[in-house]
Amino acid sequence: MILMLSEKSCGAIIYLKNGSERLYLLLKYTSGHWDFVKGNIETDEAEKETVVRELREETGIIDASFVGNFREKIEYFYRRRQGEDVHKEVFFYIMKTCTENITLSFEHVDSIWLNYTQAIEKLTFKNAKDLLKKANLFLNKLEK
Ligand code: ATP
Repeated sequence: MILMLSEKSCGAIIYLKNGSERLYLLLKYTSGHWDFVKGNIETDEAEKETVVRELREETGIIDASFVGNFREKIEYFYRRRQGEDVHKEVFFYIMKTCTENITLSFEHVDSIWLNYTQAIEKLTFKNAKDLLKKANLFLNKLEK
């Protein structure tokens, strides 16, 4: 039997309002991809606690609040440098902030606020683009 390692992370599609436009925050990971804020769940943490902690650690944002009951999963497989294959699940929530200035941690090399169209272009992975599409539709409905 082949045992597959599994990892669970939680993250946030975080946005701020610039006039009537929503700007989404993307981070550039040291491995090169552009993605949302996310990180591994620590022992005994609830998903939303992970999201709030990761947001603070990775961006310095402390004023954000959860929006609606959005919770969506993406999953993928990747190979660690040591050669092990990992099945990873990431659960995403939507959060809104008024903080524009980002303080990056060592885990990222860049950050950017982009409108929907620009963010779809910038995101590296197809499943992240699909996730943003869902989140944007969710927010369009909520703001109607
Ligand atoms: P975390 O932010 O959860 O602590 P991490 O920074 O350790 O995670 P990931 O961002 O999951 O790691 O990246 C690990 C590997 O998976 C990298 O090689 C990356 O290219 C790949 N990867 C990241 N996101 C996706 C995705 N949405 N689809 C496919 N592969 C991905």
